[in-house]
Amino acid sequence: MHSHLAEEIQVGTPLEHRLALAQPEFRALLDRALDGREISVDEGERCLHADGGDLIALIATADAIRKRDVGDDVTYVVNRNLNFTNICFVGCRFCAFARQRWEADAFNQSIEAILAKVQQAVHLGATEICMQGGINPEMPAFTYRDILQAIKGAFPQIHMHAFSPMEIMYGSRRTDMSYRDYLQMLRDAGLGTIPGTAAEILDDEIREILSHKKVDVQTWIDIITTAHDLGIRSTSTVMYGHLETARHVAAHIALIRTLQRQTGGFTEFVPLRFIHDNTELFRQGLVGEPPPKGLYDLRVYATSRLMLQGAIDNLQTSWVKINHELAQLSLEAGCNDFGGTLMEESISREAGADAGEYTTVDEIRALISARGRRPVERTTLYDRREAAHEDTAVDGDGPGRRSGRREVSARPDPHC
Ligand code: SF4
Repeated sequence: MHSHLAEEIQVGTPLEHRLALAQPEFRALLDRALDGREISVDEGERCLHADGGDLIALIATADAIRKRDVGDDVTYVVNRNLNFTNICFVGCRFCAFARQRWEADAFNQSIEAILAKVQQAVHLGATEICMQGGINPEMPAFTYRDILQAIKGAFPQIHMHAFSPMEIMYGSRRTDMSYRDYLQMLRDAGLGTIPGTAAEILDDEIREILSHKKVDVQTWIDIITTAHDLGIRSTSTVMYGHLETARHVAAHIALIRTLQRQTGGFTEFVPLRFIHDNTELFRQGLVGEPPPKGLYDLRVYATSRLMLQGAIDNLQTSWVKINHELAQLSLEAGCNDFGGTLMEESISREAGADAGEYTTVDEIRALISARGRRPVERTTLYDRREAAHEDTAVDGDGPGRRSGRREVSARPDPHC
């Protein structure tokens, strides 16, 4: 499947040649996108149904817009995921990560254990800690603040990318603070940015089935926009491949675009494939066998690039969800960021993802280079850190190449 795809998405095939494969009405839509015109929800839905020649043309269009807007470099961040507890009462039916506290493999890490992991990550060159956890009912009210203060006290240089809107909602309830006051307190304790996870699909009917205790759409928006207003930027995500329709995905992307125009606070957009194994959703037959990896994923990436042009420049692939080979192909369907690698990515692994637990910096750079693109290390906020790799050639095989298995962590965690 992938080699067939790779043939279809041949690097170097002229854009005009691939556009000519589209049906006339779809070609007109793609031409509008290439002109920088806004793609509506209806048009986004049409893109998400593209097949055959239309799909090849869609992917080529996304690639051309990516090249025009952000160039050929592919960024990645050196970070570590830190899932400090898997104890959670929320009961999302798509989640294979959460445990009840009495289960044998439930965990709740001490501050000392957390600091040891951060220390290890810093030693390996991480610039960011991506931290999320389950919603633990026995957590002391100010735990999130206390963890931040402990980490930033010991490692002031590390960027803390932590706590989804679900965790912010829970923390603010536990402390009886407003979202604004709670976020301000976390910012003062060292919070840098927040993951825009817990979004899944921003549609309350779908959310009710996926997880009726989760933040609803308006609460998610309130927390994200309050954070942005306070200068706390966030990522944005969509989870696809479960109960949703193409229209839900298109409407979700359009909502993210609208919010971005209001706040400018999103740093990136990350489409996340739903990993069905070991989830209640799959066990109970609410979702069937997942669509095969490949065309389905590339459609979502390409449509995201078209719909978000002019609003969010950075489109991140998720090798954790779709594996290395397909993540490479997604670089030709609109993506310009490879995320990171995994040091402790227990969320997707629990759910049956197959891309392994971590990828080293060297591997990420090699995967990017193999598609003829230049890997560039970045910070959380997309500042470039080329100096760290200025001695490496495109494929990184020169004498100055960094050696060793410098492991980094993909983000954002999709579980919350
Ligand atoms: S997705 Fe997050 S909030 Fe939902 S059950 Fe899993 S850990 Fe809990």
